Amino acid sequence: MLRNDQLAEWDRDNFFHPSTHLAQFARGELTHRVIKTGTNCHIEDRDGNKMLDAFAGLYCVNVGYGRQDIAAAIAAQAKELAYYHSYVGHGTEASITLSKMILDRAPANMSKVYFGQSGSDANETNVKLIWYYNNILGRTEKKKIISRWRGYHGSGLVTGSLTGLELFHKKFDLPLSQVVHTEAPYYFRRADLEQTEEQFTAHCVAELEALIEREGADTIAAFIGEPVLGTGGIVPPPAGYWPAIQKVLKKHDILLVVDEVVTGFGRLGTMFGSDHYGLEADLITIAKGLTSAYAPLSGSIVGEKMWKVLEQGTDENGPIGHGWTYSAHPIGAAAGVANLKLLDELDLIANNRDVGSYLNKTMTDALGDHPNVGEVRGEGMLCAVEFVKDRDSRTFFDAADKIGPQVATALGAHGVIARAMPQGDILGFAPPFCLTRAEADEVVEKTAKAVRTVL
Ligand code: PLP
Repeated sequence: MLRNDQLAEWDRDNFFHPSTHLAQFARGELTHRVIKTGTNCHIEDRDGNKMLDAFAGLYCVNVGYGRQDIAAAIAAQAKELAYYHSYVGHGTEASITLSKMILDRAPANMSKVYFGQSGSDANETNVKLIWYYNNILGRTEKKKIISRWRGYHGSGLVTGSLTGLELFHKKFDLPLSQVVHTEAPYYFRRADLEQTEEQFTAHCVAELEALIEREGADTIAAFIGEPVLGTGGIVPPPAGYWPAIQKVLKKHDILLVVDEVVTGFGRLGTMFGSDHYGLEADLITIAKGLTSAYAPLSGSIVGEKMWKVLEQGTDENGPIGHGWTYSAHPIGAAAGVANLKLLDELDLIANNRDVGSYLNKTMTDALGDHPNVGEVRGEGMLCAVEFVKDRDSRTFFDAADKIGPQVATALGAHGVIARAMPQGDILGFAPPFCLTRAEADEVVEKTAKAVRTVL
């Protein structure tokens, strides 16, 4: 086995890490941890340090680490057939089975699944399909996509543009001009002190209406949103938000893309976030929870209305010129089948409802009254603690205060991993679905201790 110092040197000299302060990394100022193994909610590094991962990697290892059933399915698939493509009607037993399992679980009116590798490429596929669809219909001007500030939809050119976070635009010449942003449904941060949630929802709707009016409905193709804002701060929508937004979209014939990369396959305690909020999507983006990250695989679930037009369009236009070498990769598909089976067999979504609400309640009990905690919020197995300078006047910390990273580091020293969200003042939790109540207690107790160390 390689020595740790050898690995550290190779890492520093060769590895370009994503989302990393490169200069700090080069100076050795970042925690350098080489992860070796994992079981259920815990991971272990090469030095034998065990950590409770309360963020499931990047909210993706939903069924937990070390699942031998999934590993065995991957190994069996690799031995039998590691790869064949899915172009011109080819498939494998795993990819065909998985497409059926996904559609069996998807909301009504969903028709087909197009496979990709990551959430980002699935959203790129969505935008291309939307443009293609409107071109077939002769609506060649109807192309703009509305996204929300604080939304996260990936890191590609279009998807980085859809993402409504400054960090992902800065110095990249994004967003592209066909993407327009509207108000973030972020009651705690955006509402006036006097506004009720319902009034704030009305404000979000009015902002959307005004944007559509300004741009012209005949130039707007689609609206994309996560059921619960994820990377933007783990923010459930204000009361009545989704029904009111959907009404506006229907009125203006604007397609709805529901980005379920985080919420798909159970994170909110229902199979999809669309089920939770009664969303009627035209396209649903899936990734992370599809395989619990045992292999990279994503998908765009295409609704009946779009599918019919796309299918009929091929008679006139020929095959749709969009495809990835690794679409429906057999190993990813085998992982997906085994993962979805495990989700059912272990009844993990039911555990999510139980332990997720317990985690949110105990976190609120422990920290809700802290003078520097503005809000504890969550839904299902998602929870966030937002820190403020002063709760009564809602004075916020600057990102430069790095309160979130400081608390996350203090918490890490107690053996629990949470995510300092990119805004700097929010600590996020998205544990694997197999979290036990005892582990939830540990997360809460240690978080409270870490908060007291910093604030
Ligand atoms: N959409 C959402 C809601 C996400 O949270 C993410 C990633 O966190 C993505 C899309 C992009 O997925 P990927 O990182 O797999 O490209």
